[in-house]
Amino acid sequence: MNSVTAAPNPPEYNVTGLDYTDRRHLRYAGPPLIDMHAHVTLTMPGVAGAESSMPRSRNHDTAQSESQPNLDQAEIMLEVADDFGIGRIVSMCPPEDIPPLRERFGDRIGFNGSISKKLDEPDDTAYRLLDRYLELGIQVVKLWAAPRGRERGLFVDAPWRIEAVRRARAAGIRIIMVHVADPDVWFRSVYADRAKFGTKADQYVGLERLLQMFPDMNWIAAHMGGDPENADHLQALLERYPHLHFDTSATKWQVREVSTHRDAIRSLILRFPDRFLFGSDLVTRPGLMREHYVSRYWCQRTLWESAWEGRGPIADADFAHAENEPATPMLRGLALPADVLLQIYHGNAVRLLGA
Ligand SMILES: [Zn+2]
Repeated sequence: MNSVTAAPNPPEYNVTGLDYTDRRHLRYAGPPLIDMHAHVTLTMPGVAGAESSMPRSRNHDTAQSESQPNLDQAEIMLEVADDFGIGRIVSMCPPEDIPPLRERFGDRIGFNGSISKKLDEPDDTAYRLLDRYLELGIQVVKLWAAPRGRERGLFVDAPWRIEAVRRARAAGIRIIMVHVADPDVWFRSVYADRAKFGTKADQYVGLERLLQMFPDMNWIAAHMGGDPENADHLQALLERYPHLHFDTSATKWQVREVSTHRDAIRSLILRFPDRFLFGSDLVTRPGLMREHYVSRYWCQRTLWESAWEGRGPIADADFAHAENEPATPMLRGLALPADVLLQIYHGNAVRLLGA
């Protein structure tokens, strides 16, 4: 749209003009949900509507005292979470954010330490980071190993990561979360260079190696194991590895693909109801509107617990559509039974966290 008189684009969190206050279809009435996958951090104050891929810049050079990292976005997200019945959030954030978040939110927030290092840094950098997280009382360790991290040495089974898992286990950690794969459509676009990124199947070799090395730990493969497009593959993994679980996070991806493969995913969950965990993958970012958080929790709960059907309200750049077709994918609710919802929303996380 080039015309200056054109109406502004609808916000990414509601391109269909949905009424998020209409929640009559949300029928879960059990104990509070636990969001096992989120990124609640301190954020810099930002301009409304600003999009940033980084939570904030620590090196932001400014004399304005108002530009200190603060709890503003975390407050908004936790309020929205509360409104959707989410009683506890396990957050991935920098170590320095843990004390202020814990002081403010108490038991409503737990922590997951993401273990990473730059390619040229010594292995000890990763171990020092783990030690810092352990001192701060994390309950989960995260290994982010998306294909786009390969160039930076972020393989899920890099030797320093295997050693970090060993050390975490020795310190009493019982849950490891991994991100190994991305949407199928990315392997046809951003990951088309097979020599650089490998195939989608290649992403699972390292994960299976770790699952075999650490059968006494609980593993959570994020974003429906990174493969909601292929329920048969997820089933094979669940059958082979009884200590493997999947979280439901990455809302746009799950809305698009779980809706497309609704029957296959629904029967998979019914066969393994103790292996799925509710998660949003919400990230606090400067300048985000309240409705951004609302949209993700609304879609997540609608997808799992209701029979709601309609165009998804969230803009989705990965949804291929012709110019004259709707710009968002269908959202087709799974209407999972109440006892299964209880496990996914609450019971499985309580069991894993030992709360
Ligand atoms: Zn995430």
